[in-house]
Amino acid sequence: MSENKTASEKSISIHQTIDDVRSVIDLHKQNGKRVGFVATMGALHAGHISLIEQAKQKSDVVVVSIFVNPTQFGPNEDYDSYPRQLEADIDECRKVGVDMVFAPDRSVMYDEKTYLSIGIDQLNEHMCGGSRPGFFEGILLVVNKLFNIISPDVAVFGQKDIQQVQIIKQMVKEFNHGVEIISAPIVRANDGLALSSRNAYLDDKQRTTAPGLYRALRYVEQQVTSGVDQPKLLLTHQKSELEAKGFEIDYLNLFSAKTLQPAETLKKNEEYIIAGAAYLGKTRLIDNILIEL
Ligand code: AMP
Repeated sequence: MSENKTASEKSISIHQTIDDVRSVIDLHKQNGKRVGFVATMGALHAGHISLIEQAKQKSDVVVVSIFVNPTQFGPNEDYDSYPRQLEADIDECRKVGVDMVFAPDRSVMYDEKTYLSIGIDQLNEHMCGGSRPGFFEGILLVVNKLFNIISPDVAVFGQKDIQQVQIIKQMVKEFNHGVEIISAPIVRANDGLALSSRNAYLDDKQRTTAPGLYRALRYVEQQVTSGVDQPKLLLTHQKSELEAKGFEIDYLNLFSAKTLQPAETLKKNEEYIIAGAAYLGKTRLIDNILIEL
């Protein structure tokens, strides 16, 4: 299915089947075009758009997938209630010059019975992987499938999900996908809150409290960059402050950017991730800051 050009917008094509999206991508590749890819679960916001802008810089044809991936949600998570607004997302994609949207149904991506999975060692032991069993296996499965379907030359992911980027980079290396992976900076609201499709769940009071998570990370950043090398007490204190504001902490810690393992003593010239995940009511917020000491 292809839509007509208006005066100010170039045409965008919407694809719901694998054969359809592949046939158009094949044509672009035969014409020597470089394909850029942004994988999303929809409910697009300025964070997603920044990835699309980067993909446009790096490629000739930009493909955005919009698919709420069931295999990355746990049984008690928000798969059913996750915001879905395909028409509005397509409009947004059209406005920012996306060439192709791949929006498959669940049945296009997964047979009712599947037999294979991808295992992950160590890299998913902590951070979101530690508290969401099966989450990164589900992400790797869908990203692996999407890479096989789209065959991108370059794919842009957000640093907002930094553990995801690191694990995908490792997958590309070990599975030889031949896709260049770009990590794009976190886009924030004016008050510092990292943009997220899940922010739509926050009520007014929670929305006012929410930037506290980023402020806590910034405080930790400031302390460790000015010489605190054993951050345990500092983190304990920040956790209590957040709890007092109404957050329920999942984790707040420093991790090695290389191994994604917790770092108790910090060393010079090493890269660390100051990362936190916390609930406000039922909404899980995540955020991180990448630092090099
Ligand atoms: P999602 O739709 O939540 O699966 O996110 C799709 C992509 O957008 C992922 O690579 C995310 O890391 C990225 N993303 C989400 N929020 C932001 C943000 N605030 N800034 C930059 N990238 C983001």
